[in-house]
Amino acid sequence: QNQSFDYDLVIIGAGVGGHGAALHAVECGLKTAIIEAADMGGTCVNRGCIPSKALLAASGRVRELRDQHHLKSLGIQLGQVNFDRDAIASHASNLVDTLRGNLTNSLTRLKVDIIEGWGKVAGHQKVSVKTNDGEKTITAQNIIVASGSIPWVPPGVEVDGKTVFTSDDAIKLDWLPDWVAIIGSGYIGLEFSDVYTALGSEVTIIEAMDKLMPTFDPDIAKLAKRMLIDPRDIDTHTGTLAMKVTPGSPVVIELADAKTKEVVDVLEVDACLVATGRIPATKNLGFDAVSVETDKRGFIPVNDRMEVLNQGEPVPNLYAIGDATGKMMLAHAASAQGIVAVENMCGRHREANYNSIPAAAFTHPEISFVGMTEPQAKEKADAEGFKIKTVRSYFKANSKALAESESDGIAKIIFREDTGEILGGHIIGLHAADLIHEVSNAVAQGEPVQALANLVHTHPTISEVIDEAYKRAAAGLAHA
Ligand code: FAD
Repeated sequence: QNQSFDYDLVIIGAGVGGHGAALHAVECGLKTAIIEAADMGGTCVNRGCIPSKALLAASGRVRELRDQHHLKSLGIQLGQVNFDRDAIASHASNLVDTLRGNLTNSLTRLKVDIIEGWGKVAGHQKVSVKTNDGEKTITAQNIIVASGSIPWVPPGVEVDGKTVFTSDDAIKLDWLPDWVAIIGSGYIGLEFSDVYTALGSEVTIIEAMDKLMPTFDPDIAKLAKRMLIDPRDIDTHTGTLAMKVTPGSPVVIELADAKTKEVVDVLEVDACLVATGRIPATKNLGFDAVSVETDKRGFIPVNDRMEVLNQGEPVPNLYAIGDATGKMMLAHAASAQGIVAVENMCGRHREANYNSIPAAAFTHPEISFVGMTEPQAKEKADAEGFKIKTVRSYFKANSKALAESESDGIAKIIFREDTGEILGGHIIGLHAADLIHEVSNAVAQGEPVQALANLVHTHPTISEVIDEAYKRAAAGLAHA
């Protein structure tokens, strides 16, 4: 430890990003403190990944047992299925409590000082913290800002937290509306539509873009509509803005054409979930003290070493990670960035590489991807003068998926024709969120499809869907 500082590292924000950075810092021998203004574990543990997956686990089983779609073909018949909303909500909140406790214990055990309060950069290598006991300044050789993000609510939408709410409240599953409108068809909107339809709510999705799931690969979005939207009788309004949303009973939603902004319809529903994206929580972080300006949208500018930038130049000893940087707003990306920041402050050069970081929507079935969509890959190919190819491999040709009676889905691989380098991988189907790692690891290792086709997979497993895709790609069966 450098004796002239209170700490080697002070981290502002104890979400997954800050937590991951703290654990790695301890492994590297750094005396570390972490400042948290609200809940240890941040969004992911308290209001995000974890409780949403608990709700999806319970509601997914309700759907399976109620619809008996797969069970019937396996020869299983059931009677009436009942569920207890309160118990499902408690499963999620108990899990949150356990994981928050584990996370706090892991930091305490490793002698990371946890400071409850609002942290701010107070100058070069200085942080001020406002706690219940007043304000104090601490010095740190290095500082990481990991302040995360909050839901974005569009203008005209009034959130009351009861009938019109964001994921922060939806996650509590306080009640089950008969009819819920979900604004936004990103992964949060999709996951909640999965939960609500499984538990018997009628769902309407309002999406400003012309297509549902606009950030997904178009083939996957099309299939997702067929698998996750149409069979659940979800009504959809694309190219449509929720111009005005007024809470109450009923909730009144004025729908407008996204281009002309003319009101085209009015919906009266029981509840409205606003899932229109997230914005950085970067206000009042003391950046003036080090002359740092956030970008137009409020994100902290960083380079791939996770150093905070002031007019393009790294500010010494100041790093930022996670959702607050807007690079890839996912839990595992935040903790990966935390490790990169710590490695760099320890003098080992490391850069974040987002190409191989996978993402998933934990719907039933799951959707996952890594790298570029086909239109993105085409654009890059045209700009750089190479050709791409794509292959698809089908779950209905996979013996394990057929045995499980869950054979709807595809894996799609996009690769360079000249080198076989994988540019993108997209999966919808059983265990897609786990399967994608086979593709993301290949991307990270820079393995071309020709080499990947030689790998041997256990038979029969769902992973043979990826094996099949690699083999097709290598055999030149691809159609560009
Ligand atoms: P956060 O988790 O937001 O943590 C930031 C912390 O900093 C907060 O606790 C905040 O209180 C604290 N803080 C802020 N300012 C200060 C300050 N000045 N002083 C002290 N403390 C401060 N990601 C996935 O990878 N997989 C998923 O399945 C997934 N599901 C999600 C589901 C939902 C419903 C939502 C909303 C998000 C989901 N995410 C998921 C995204 C994931 O939660 C975030 O990417 C992740 O939490 C970002 O971590 P972070 O550390 O950057 O910030």
